[in-house]
Amino acid sequence: MNQTTPGQNYRTRLNDGRMVWLGGEHIRDVPNHPAFKGTVDTVSSLLDLQEKPDTRDALTFISPGSGKRVNAAFLVPSRKEDILHRHAAFQIWSDATFGMMSRLSEYSRSLLTGWYASRHRLGGASKGFADKIALYYEQSRDGDWLSTTALHDPQIDRSKGPSESDDPDAYLRVVKKTGEGIWVRGAKMIATAAPYVDVFPFHRRAAGDLPYSTMFAVSVGTPGLHVVCRESFASEQQEDHPLSSKYDEMDAVIIFDDVFVPWERVFIQDDPEAIWQLRLDPAAVALSQHQTVVRLISKLEFVAAVGNEIATAIGITHHLHVQEKLGELLVQLETIKALLAVSEELAEPDEATGVWLPAIDPLTTARNLGSRSYPRAISILRHIAAGGLIQTPATLAELDGPIGPLMQKYYRGADLPAMERVRLFKLTWDLIASPLGSRHELYEIFYSGDPVRAYAGQYLGYDKAKLTDPVWKLIRNATNDHVPATNG
Ligand SMILES: Cc1cc2nc3c(=O)[nH]c(=O)nc-3n(C[C@H](O)[C@H](O)[C@H](O)COP(=O)(O)OP(=O)(O)OC[C@H]3O[C@@H](n4cnc5c(N)ncnc54)[C@H](O)[C@@H]3O)c2cc1C
Repeated sequence: MNQTTPGQNYRTRLNDGRMVWLGGEHIRDVPNHPAFKGTVDTVSSLLDLQEKPDTRDALTFISPGSGKRVNAAFLVPSRKEDILHRHAAFQIWSDATFGMMSRLSEYSRSLLTGWYASRHRLGGASKGFADKIALYYEQSRDGDWLSTTALHDPQIDRSKGPSESDDPDAYLRVVKKTGEGIWVRGAKMIATAAPYVDVFPFHRRAAGDLPYSTMFAVSVGTPGLHVVCRESFASEQQEDHPLSSKYDEMDAVIIFDDVFVPWERVFIQDDPEAIWQLRLDPAAVALSQHQTVVRLISKLEFVAAVGNEIATAIGITHHLHVQEKLGELLVQLETIKALLAVSEELAEPDEATGVWLPAIDPLTTARNLGSRSYPRAISILRHIAAGGLIQTPATLAELDGPIGPLMQKYYRGADLPAMERVRLFKLTWDLIASPLGSRHELYEIFYSGDPVRAYAGQYLGYDKAKLTDPVWKLIRNATNDHVPATNG
């Protein structure tokens, strides 16, 4: 009997009655709709790598629950090698997609793995947190569930919190509690990958607004839950749009039109402080940021490679400023790689749980740098490729059309035949200027939260006494003065 592959199982799971909306249409067959087909095919093929002999060991580990191989994003590191194992698994998927698929679930799976690892110190006064999160983790791990996150309230009026809003339903909140569970109403943005994952976890902290301070998880197919997609950037022309045809991971707003969540999936209720502790949990933060940095490296490598090939294709590598710009792409890449290596080198067991974690400061630095490096990298590609980005015919097929011989002559590169040069520039357009490319620039700036507050957060959380104590020592030695207390 033929066994189904992980990718086939995943595709079957998507036919669960989910309410995915695109352009006002309810998409009933997500895996085969043109807006999603390329991406779902990509995700299926990545899942199948979990069974391929070359990649299986790196991508998976043996589940202590089912005894079967499961994705390494669920591995709770009990030694440094486990962190490296997780790295290798993340890298296989991110290299296979050139870092263009940022929400292949490893991020949210890593958050869940962190919460599971820290479950006995999280949850506040909410009853049964540890057991509930363990069940959710084990089911996700052994069922190979894909998930995403949607942390933010819809952008309606940022000057008002839930209690000041004219409309209490503008923010996701509990509207009813019963013996079986809770009913929730409201909306969340932005949920990348939402149309084609299995489950969403939600959490929100709103001090003083108890019905809003809840953490729960729901299956995408739950009645009343609507996934409202942005415009599709997917293309069916693989040759002309090599990235948009496979990697439009889609972003959506989730609307909860009175959705029922059973108690076993309500992890925290009416407890802003417990949700805050969850957001700050060292295991969840370190394991998830580790994944984002591995993925960023794949993307910066891709951009650096494309920049190099563009410059070579049109014979501009001898210009000093072009070399400087290509060098800058490498400086970015090597900086982020070094930060990742340091975070792994300095990994150590968490004091409270014994779980091994990569060092957080280099990861936070890499993540924050990424929000500025990527837009700069894209700008460099634009300056190098210049008008060549427009010197491409509408379709590759034209090179073999009625005036093909003329086009072969004028669309060629320094040492590249026209077909290859046009392919390279179409790839570059798709990467930096197509709707998908523009979305990626926005993504890299904002995916991990507002970069302004992220940089400020790094300042606020930093152990500044390490910097300032020597300064005060110098001053004290010079003046024999008292050393003032530092605020750390
Ligand atoms: C392509 C894309 C994909 C994304 N995918 C996901 C995802 O899968 N999951 C997820 O959870 N999130 C996702 N996000 C959302 C992302 O986390 C948010 O966009 C980000 O946190 C910024 O929040 P915001 O967009 O609501 O901006 P806002 O908070 O509305 O900010 C808008 C502007 O106002 C300023 N501002 C607003 N409030 C303040 C304040 N209190 N203090 C200082 N300045 C302020 C900001 O600096 C910014 O310039 C995604 C975003 C993008 C663009």
